[in-house]
Amino acid sequence: MKQKLGIYIHIPFCMSKCYYCNFASYVKKENRIEEYIDCVCMEILQNAEILSEYDIATIYFGGGTPSFIDSKYIQKIMDTLRLFQKEDDVIETTIEVNPNSVTLEKLQDYKACGINRISMGVQSTHNDVLKKIGRIHQIEDVYQALELCKKLNFSNISIDLIYPLPGLTLSTWKETLEEVTSMIKKYPIKHISIYNLEVHEDTMLYHLLEQKEFSKEFSLVDEEEEYQMKENLFEKLEKNGFFQYEISNFSMKGYESKHNLTYWNQNYYLGFGAGAASFFAGTRYKNTENLEGYIQSIRSGFPAITEKEELDLLDLMKEYMILKLRLKQGFDTNEFLNRFGKDVFSLFQNELEDLEQKELIKILPLKDSHKQICLTKRGMEVANYVWEKLI
Ligand code: SF4
Repeated sequence: MKQKLGIYIHIPFCMSKCYYCNFASYVKKENRIEEYIDCVCMEILQNAEILSEYDIATIYFGGGTPSFIDSKYIQKIMDTLRLFQKEDDVIETTIEVNPNSVTLEKLQDYKACGINRISMGVQSTHNDVLKKIGRIHQIEDVYQALELCKKLNFSNISIDLIYPLPGLTLSTWKETLEEVTSMIKKYPIKHISIYNLEVHEDTMLYHLLEQKEFSKEFSLVDEEEEYQMKENLFEKLEKNGFFQYEISNFSMKGYESKHNLTYWNQNYYLGFGAGAASFFAGTRYKNTENLEGYIQSIRSGFPAITEKEELDLLDLMKEYMILKLRLKQGFDTNEFLNRFGKDVFSLFQNELEDLEQKELIKILPLKDSHKQICLTKRGMEVANYVWEKLI
């Protein structure tokens, strides 16, 4: 049987730039879409040798805003990937959509070309908060988009939320959770990603928070309230049948993101498009984020890779632990042994003992003398500290 491979496609076009965004995304570049998509298809074909040696298990269209561009472009990429697929290979194909750029026609086209999972950027249920972070949709658009997905029988929808956000208080967050609960009951939402807001220096939000005249309006809750928000969130989602399977991700049983599990299980994936990352044969690659640079390289028949890191065995083992520990279930020490031919305790005994003593990880006995290592609740809260210890 062939080994499995995940495919990530980056669509870097957006209608406008959200105030917190530091992703590789471009506005007012509609005139470059056609050529960009041609290049993505060319890049896929340039990797034909690898693609024909593996089974494509998952495909993920991320961005940017994949739903912003005409669905014929998504179909074109899917047609190109189909050259390397067998009928039932792909188990999950996801597309990220913005609530105000998704239409019935686009969803019909997505369905027709094999997309079976919709990931919707909801971010907040409060229109005033959405406005403060520069999102161009409103909560009414979310409901409209969910109705369309339901009408077309998409049975696996994921939504993204962000917290804390400017204008979001503990009490409005509770309203958000109530609203999300009623959405879960009404629509086939099976997965929720909850991101902690990161304020990057090169974003509009950073500057707004820095400027005195806006500081009150754009201020964020304090640490204590943020912690309370997280507690409320966990309680609410668990009550509604969602379990946390990764630090930032919750799902109903069986609806974990198969594509993202590729990343956390340190399996191979190829990324196509400007800024897309890949992990293959122990090496991490990243394409240039520069749109014109990407188009030029691919057009000239060269890879658009600008970053390449070959990981040695020790790097791979450390990275494996960090990625796996993001998952609630952590990892089985026997799997580690089978994968690397090394016993995790003989290599990282001091680090693991120290983390266990600090009650940041749990080491649980399994049968046949192997063990399960996973983060504790406290470990999940201070995961960056755990990663530092392991590195
Ligand atoms: S839609 Fe996403 S990628 Fe586009 S600007 Fe907003 S946050 Fe960035």
